[in-house]
Amino acid sequence: MPKTSIILPVFNEAENIHLLYEDLGKVCNTDTEFIFVDDGSKDNTFREIHKLAEGDPRIKCLSLSRNFGHQNALMAGMEKASGDVIVLMDADLQHPPALLPEMFQKIDDGFDLVITKRKSTVDINPIKQFFSLLFYKFINAISETKIEPKAADFRAFNRKVLESVLQFKERDLFLRGIFSWIGFRSTTLTFDAPARQFGKTKYSFATMMRLAWKGTTSFSFKPLRIALLFGSLLSLASFAFGAYALLAYFRGETIPGWASLIIAVMILGGTQLLAIGLLGEYIAKLFTESKKRPRYLIKDSINIEK
Ligand code: UDP
Ligand code: MG
Repeated sequence: MPKTSIILPVFNEAENIHLLYEDLGKVCNTDTEFIFVDDGSKDNTFREIHKLAEGDPRIKCLSLSRNFGHQNALMAGMEKASGDVIVLMDADLQHPPALLPEMFQKIDDGFDLVITKRKSTVDINPIKQFFSLLFYKFINAISETKIEPKAADFRAFNRKVLESVLQFKERDLFLRGIFSWIGFRSTTLTFDAPARQFGKTKYSFATMMRLAWKGTTSFSFKPLRIALLFGSLLSLASFAFGAYALLAYFRGETIPGWASLIIAVMILGGTQLLAIGLLGEYIAKLFTESKKRPRYLIKDSINIEK
């Protein structure tokens, strides 16, 4: 079996680490490295990993200087991975290690990338689920990069895919989109996501919305096109209305029209602000990218060079 790197971003997951290690031990052989990326945890996560590492040299850890977010933590792990097969998975046991043998088999069969999809999740509330589906519908409608609904950040891939993903230098990472954009031979497996063992989700409604907006603006500029189209239609309508108003004036039919005036002003003002705001979002994105700041900083490491 080829050498495997398992990348595990952890943010305040101290209680989950031992269980995870036990479960991974059942399906991983000696030629595996477990790269934990401690994403600025405030609890005992780093100490727990340290304890494990004392008894098992396969355990490696990068400790980031603060919380840089799930996507950046995954990137940090990928940059250090030395295996021929790389796996990205959550550390809260919601991505079942028992699926790994099947994923490795697919890579062995010649697939470059194995994507996974949640069949069901016990503890996702229906509102979150509804908005998540709505997001995938929306992004697939406006973007050329298709993203599988319910896609999880649980994947296995070979070095070809790893090296392609490492070429993406953008700060504002949306890995689901990137893994779909790159192409290659991929296959999808489905799994049942169990409830979280310990701790609670780090993805609040607001973080999910932020990720969704990041995904939308990273993979499509159609929102700008829609604003342009809407603006053009509104201008055409204004010209027609202007002509009508002029005609009415010369015919002496004009009367004081507060209602029509205020409605026109409000609609025009509102759409203008909306379009400017949208433009601002893309400019802000350019601003972030142009600064070229590091995606993460490493404070400490175990069994691995910083
Ligand atoms: N995570 C992280 N940094 C963060 C948020 C989350 O490294 O800022 C890790 C977290 O510890 C877990 C994985 O990313 O291993 C997925 O997070 P979570 O389980 O909270 O997301 P959910 O499964 O609820 O979507
Ligand atoms: Mg989870």
